[in-house]
Amino acid sequence: MLNINNLHAKIEDGVEILKGINLQINPGEVHAIMGPNGAGKSTLSSVISGKEDYEVTAGEILFEGENIIEDAPEDRAHKGIFMSFQYPVEIPGVSVTNFIKAALNETRKAKGLEEMPAKEMLALIRENSEKLGIKRDFLSRSLNEGFSGGEKKRNEIFQMMMLNPKLAILDETDSGLDIDALRIVADGVNSFRNEGNAVLVITHYQRLLDYIQPDFVHVLADGKIIRTGDKNLALELEEKGYDWLLN
Ligand code: ADP
Ligand code: MG
Ligand code: MG
Repeated sequence: MLNINNLHAKIEDGVEILKGINLQINPGEVHAIMGPNGAGKSTLSSVISGKEDYEVTAGEILFEGENIIEDAPEDRAHKGIFMSFQYPVEIPGVSVTNFIKAALNETRKAKGLEEMPAKEMLALIRENSEKLGIKRDFLSRSLNEGFSGGEKKRNEIFQMMMLNPKLAILDETDSGLDIDALRIVADGVNSFRNEGNAVLVITHYQRLLDYIQPDFVHVLADGKIIRTGDKNLALELEEKGYDWLLN
Protein backbone atom coordinates (compact mmCIF):
# COMPACT_ATOMS: atom_id res chain seq x y z
CA MET A 1 0.00 0.00 0.00
CA LEU A 2 2.67 2.50 1.06
CA ASN A 3 6.22 2.16 -0.14
CA ILE A 4 8.75 4.76 0.91
CA ASN A 5 12.16 4.47 -0.65
CA ASN A 6 15.23 6.45 0.34
CA LEU A 7 13.17 9.48 1.28
CA HIS A 8 15.08 12.66 1.99
CA ALA A 9 13.33 15.88 2.91
CA LYS A 10 14.32 19.29 4.16
CA ILE A 11 12.56 22.33 5.49
CA GLU A 12 12.19 25.14 2.99
CA ASP A 13 15.21 27.04 4.23
CA GLY A 14 17.60 24.15 3.94
CA VAL A 15 18.05 21.90 6.94
CA GLU A 16 17.72 18.23 6.03
CA ILE A 17 15.40 16.44 8.43
CA LEU A 18 14.62 13.10 6.79
CA LYS A 19 17.83 11.39 5.75
CA GLY A 20 16.89 8.26 3.83
CA ILE A 21 13.68 6.70 5.11
CA ASN A 22 12.61 3.25 3.91
CA LEU A 23 9.22 2.00 5.00
CA GLN A 24 6.76 -0.48 3.58
CA ILE A 25 3.21 -0.79 4.85
CA ASN A 26 0.86 -3.48 3.57
CA PRO A 27 -2.91 -3.68 3.89
CA GLY A 28 -3.98 -5.09 7.24
CA GLU A 29 -0.90 -3.85 9.09
CA VAL A 30 -0.49 -1.45 11.97
CA HIS A 31 2.90 0.20 12.22
CA ALA A 32 4.17 2.30 15.08
CA ILE A 33 6.96 4.82 14.76
CA MET A 34 8.67 5.81 17.96
CA GLY A 35 11.75 7.83 18.69
CA PRO A 36 13.23 10.69 20.63
CA ASN A 37 11.98 14.23 20.39
CA GLY A 38 13.15 16.04 17.29
CA ALA A 39 13.88 12.80 15.40
CA GLY A 40 11.66 13.74 12.47
CA LYS A 41 8.53 11.74 13.28
CA SER A 42 6.07 14.56 12.70
CA THR A 43 8.03 15.64 9.64
CA LEU A 44 7.65 12.16 8.16
CA SER A 45 3.87 12.19 8.65
CA SER A 46 3.68 15.70 7.19
CA VAL A 47 5.72 14.70 4.16
CA ILE A 48 3.53 11.64 3.53
CA SER A 49 0.38 13.73 3.74
CA GLY A 50 1.89 16.48 1.59
CA LYS A 51 2.25 19.43 3.93
CA GLU A 52 3.94 22.20 2.02
CA ASP A 53 6.58 23.31 4.55
CA TYR A 54 8.87 20.53 3.42
CA GLU A 55 10.73 19.77 0.24
CA VAL A 56 11.49 16.24 -0.84
CA THR A 57 15.05 16.20 -2.18
CA ALA A 58 15.40 12.50 -2.99
CA GLY A 59 13.49 9.26 -2.95
CA GLU A 60 9.89 8.36 -3.56
CA ILE A 61 6.62 7.77 -1.79
CA LEU A 62 4.52 5.21 -3.61
CA PHE A 63 0.90 4.84 -2.61
CA GLU A 64 -0.73 1.86 -4.28
CA GLY A 65 2.10 1.89 -6.77
CA GLU A 66 1.90 5.57 -7.73
CA ASN A 67 4.43 8.19 -6.73
CA ILE A 68 2.45 10.83 -4.83
CA ILE A 69 5.24 13.31 -4.14
CA GLU A 70 3.87 15.82 -6.62
CA ASP A 71 0.27 15.46 -5.38
CA ALA A 72 -1.40 18.21 -3.37
CA PRO A 73 -2.49 17.24 0.16
CA GLU A 74 -6.16 17.12 -0.85
CA ASP A 75 -5.37 14.77 -3.74
CA ARG A 76 -3.59 12.45 -1.33
CA ALA A 77 -6.60 12.63 0.97
CA HIS A 78 -8.88 11.75 -1.92
CA LYS A 79 -6.69 8.77 -2.73
CA GLY A 80 -7.31 7.50 0.78
CA ILE A 81 -4.59 8.92 3.02
CA PHE A 82 -5.87 10.39 6.27
CA MET A 83 -3.77 12.35 8.66
CA SER A 84 -4.84 13.63 12.02
CA PHE A 85 -4.28 17.27 12.77
CA GLN A 86 -1.84 18.03 15.52
CA TYR A 87 -3.38 21.42 16.18
CA PRO A 88 -6.94 21.18 14.93
CA VAL A 89 -8.48 24.40 13.67
CA GLU A 90 -11.54 25.83 15.32
CA ILE A 91 -14.38 26.59 12.94
CA PRO A 92 -17.05 28.58 14.75
CA GLY A 93 -20.51 28.06 13.31
CA VAL A 94 -19.63 24.77 11.60
CA SER A 95 -20.74 21.77 13.59
CA VAL A 96 -18.87 18.50 13.93
CA THR A 97 -21.58 16.87 11.81
CA ASN A 98 -21.62 19.46 9.05
CA PHE A 99 -17.86 19.47 8.80
CA ILE A 100 -17.66 15.71 8.38
CA LYS A 101 -20.56 15.66 5.90
CA ALA A 102 -18.79 18.26 3.78
CA ALA A 103 -15.45 16.44 3.98
CA LEU A 104 -17.01 13.11 3.08
CA ASN A 105 -18.95 14.52 0.15
CA GLU A 106 -15.87 16.38 -1.06
CA THR A 107 -14.00 13.08 -1.19
CA ARG A 108 -16.88 11.43 -3.04
CA LYS A 109 -17.02 14.27 -5.53
CA ALA A 110 -13.31 13.91 -6.24
CA LYS A 111 -14.02 10.27 -7.09
CA GLY A 112 -16.90 11.22 -9.37
CA LEU A 113 -19.54 9.98 -6.93
CA GLU A 114 -22.80 11.67 -6.00
CA GLU A 115 -23.32 13.14 -2.55
CA MET A 116 -24.15 10.51 0.01
CA PRO A 117 -27.92 10.33 0.49
CA ALA A 118 -28.94 12.03 3.75
CA LYS A 119 -30.40 8.88 5.21
CA GLU A 120 -27.27 6.87 4.56
CA MET A 121 -25.12 9.68 5.98
CA LEU A 122 -27.21 9.79 9.11
CA ALA A 123 -26.93 6.05 9.59
CA LEU A 124 -23.16 6.20 9.16
CA ILE A 125 -22.85 9.06 11.63
CA ARG A 126 -24.98 7.16 14.10
CA GLU A 127 -23.00 3.96 13.71
CA ASN A 128 -19.62 5.61 14.19
CA SER A 129 -20.64 7.97 16.96
CA GLU A 130 -22.11 5.06 18.88
CA LYS A 131 -18.90 3.08 18.51
CA LEU A 132 -16.98 5.98 20.00
CA GLY A 133 -19.48 6.89 22.70
CA ILE A 134 -20.10 10.30 21.11
CA LYS A 135 -23.30 11.97 22.27
CA ARG A 136 -25.72 13.85 20.08
CA ASP A 137 -24.97 17.27 21.60
CA PHE A 138 -21.28 16.84 20.79
CA LEU A 139 -22.12 16.38 17.12
CA SER A 140 -23.88 19.73 16.99
CA ARG A 141 -21.07 21.68 18.65
CA SER A 142 -18.84 24.03 16.65
CA LEU A 143 -15.81 22.20 15.37
CA ASN A 144 -13.02 22.14 17.94
CA GLU A 145 -14.30 25.25 19.68
CA GLY A 146 -13.49 24.87 23.36
CA PHE A 147 -12.88 21.14 22.92
CA SER A 148 -10.92 19.43 25.66
CA GLY A 149 -7.93 17.29 24.70
CA GLY A 150 -10.06 14.16 24.91
CA GLU A 151 -12.84 15.70 22.81
CA LYS A 152 -10.36 16.71 20.12
CA LYS A 153 -9.07 13.15 20.02
CA ARG A 154 -12.57 11.74 19.85
CA ASN A 155 -13.42 14.06 17.00
CA GLU A 156 -10.23 13.14 15.16
CA ILE A 157 -10.97 9.44 15.46
CA PHE A 158 -14.58 10.08 14.44
CA GLN A 159 -13.33 11.83 11.29
CA MET A 160 -11.08 8.87 10.55
CA MET A 161 -13.91 6.36 10.92
CA MET A 162 -16.30 8.45 8.83
CA LEU A 163 -13.84 9.04 5.99
CA ASN A 164 -12.74 5.41 6.14
CA PRO A 165 -9.30 5.96 4.57
CA LYS A 166 -7.04 3.23 3.24
CA LEU A 167 -4.13 4.56 5.28
CA ALA A 168 -4.61 6.45 8.53
CA ILE A 169 -1.67 8.34 9.98
CA LEU A 170 -2.05 9.39 13.59
CA ASP A 171 0.64 11.61 15.02
CA GLU A 172 0.23 11.39 18.76
CA THR A 173 2.57 14.11 19.83
CA ASP A 174 4.05 14.97 23.18
CA SER A 175 1.25 17.39 23.98
CA GLY A 176 0.06 15.75 27.18
CA LEU A 177 -2.20 12.94 26.10
CA ASP A 178 -3.83 11.66 29.25
CA ILE A 179 -4.83 8.07 29.74
CA ASP A 180 -8.41 8.70 28.60
CA ALA A 181 -7.22 10.24 25.35
CA LEU A 182 -4.85 7.32 24.79
CA ARG A 183 -7.75 4.93 25.22
CA ILE A 184 -9.93 6.89 22.80
CA VAL A 185 -7.22 6.66 20.17
CA ALA A 186 -6.54 3.00 20.87
CA ASP A 187 -10.20 1.95 20.85
CA GLY A 188 -10.73 3.93 17.67
CA VAL A 189 -7.78 2.32 15.92
CA ASN A 190 -8.79 -1.14 17.05
CA SER A 191 -12.30 -0.73 15.76
CA PHE A 192 -11.09 0.86 12.51
CA ARG A 193 -8.39 -1.62 11.55
CA ASN A 194 -9.22 -4.40 9.14
CA GLU A 195 -7.61 -6.52 6.45
CA GLY A 196 -8.03 -3.86 3.81
CA ASN A 197 -6.64 -0.77 5.55
CA ALA A 198 -3.49 0.21 7.36
CA VAL A 199 -2.55 2.45 10.27
CA LEU A 200 0.63 4.33 11.03
CA VAL A 201 0.75 5.52 14.63
CA ILE A 202 3.46 7.91 15.59
CA THR A 203 4.04 8.13 19.28
CA HIS A 204 6.60 8.30 21.94
CA TYR A 205 4.26 6.78 24.45
CA GLN A 206 5.05 3.11 24.85
CA ARG A 207 1.83 3.06 26.79
CA LEU A 208 -0.33 3.61 23.71
CA LEU A 209 1.04 0.35 22.36
CA ASP A 210 -0.26 -1.54 25.37
CA TYR A 211 -3.70 -0.94 23.85
CA ILE A 212 -2.92 -1.01 20.15
CA GLN A 213 -1.05 -4.11 19.08
CA PRO A 214 1.27 -2.97 16.31
CA ASP A 215 2.58 -5.49 13.79
CA PHE A 216 5.79 -3.50 13.44
CA VAL A 217 7.57 -0.97 15.60
CA HIS A 218 10.17 1.32 14.04
CA VAL A 219 12.57 3.59 15.81
CA LEU A 220 13.24 6.89 14.07
CA ALA A 221 16.29 8.85 15.17
CA ASP A 222 18.01 11.72 13.44
CA GLY A 223 15.96 11.32 10.28
CA LYS A 224 16.50 7.60 9.81
CA ILE A 225 14.81 4.39 10.84
CA ILE A 226 17.51 2.80 12.94
CA ARG A 227 15.65 -0.26 14.16
CA THR A 228 12.54 -2.25 13.26
CA GLY A 229 10.97 -4.94 15.39
CA ASP A 230 7.65 -6.19 16.68
CA LYS A 231 5.78 -5.04 19.75
CA ASN A 232 8.53 -6.37 21.99
CA LEU A 233 10.75 -3.58 20.72
CA ALA A 234 8.35 -1.09 22.29
CA LEU A 235 8.63 -2.93 25.60
CA GLU A 236 12.39 -2.94 25.33
CA LEU A 237 12.36 0.82 24.71
CA GLU A 238 10.15 1.34 27.72
CA GLU A 239 12.69 -0.43 29.84
CA LYS A 240 15.89 0.91 28.37
CA GLY A 241 15.04 4.20 26.65
CA TYR A 242 16.60 5.14 23.32
CA ASP A 243 20.24 5.70 24.25
CA TRP A 244 21.38 2.12 23.65
CA LEU A 245 20.27 2.43 20.02
CA LEU A 246 21.90 5.76 19.39
CA ASN A 247 25.52 4.57 19.73
P1 ADP B 1 9.56 14.77 16.20
O1 ADP B 1 8.14 14.76 15.74
O2 ADP B 1 10.24 13.45 16.04
O3 ADP B 1 9.69 15.29 17.59
P2 ADP B 1 9.88 16.81 14.19
O4 ADP B 1 9.63 16.15 12.89
O5 ADP B 1 8.81 17.65 14.75
O6 ADP B 1 10.39 15.74 15.25
O7 ADP B 1 11.18 17.72 14.02
C1 ADP B 1 12.43 17.22 13.55
C2 ADP B 1 13.43 18.36 13.51
O8 ADP B 1 13.09 19.24 12.46
C3 ADP B 1 13.46 19.20 14.76
O9 ADP B 1 14.79 19.60 14.96
C4 ADP B 1 12.59 20.36 14.42
O10 ADP B 1 12.95 21.52 15.13
C5 ADP B 1 12.85 20.53 12.93
N1 ADP B 1 11.69 21.06 12.20
C6 ADP B 1 10.59 20.36 11.86
N2 ADP B 1 9.72 21.11 11.16
C7 ADP B 1 10.28 22.34 11.08
C8 ADP B 1 9.89 23.57 10.47
N3 ADP B 1 8.72 23.69 9.81
N4 ADP B 1 10.72 24.62 10.60
C9 ADP B 1 11.89 24.49 11.26
N5 ADP B 1 12.32 23.37 11.82
C10 ADP B 1 11.55 22.29 11.75
MG1 MG C 1 8.37 16.61 18.88
MG1 MG D 1 6.33 15.15 16.63
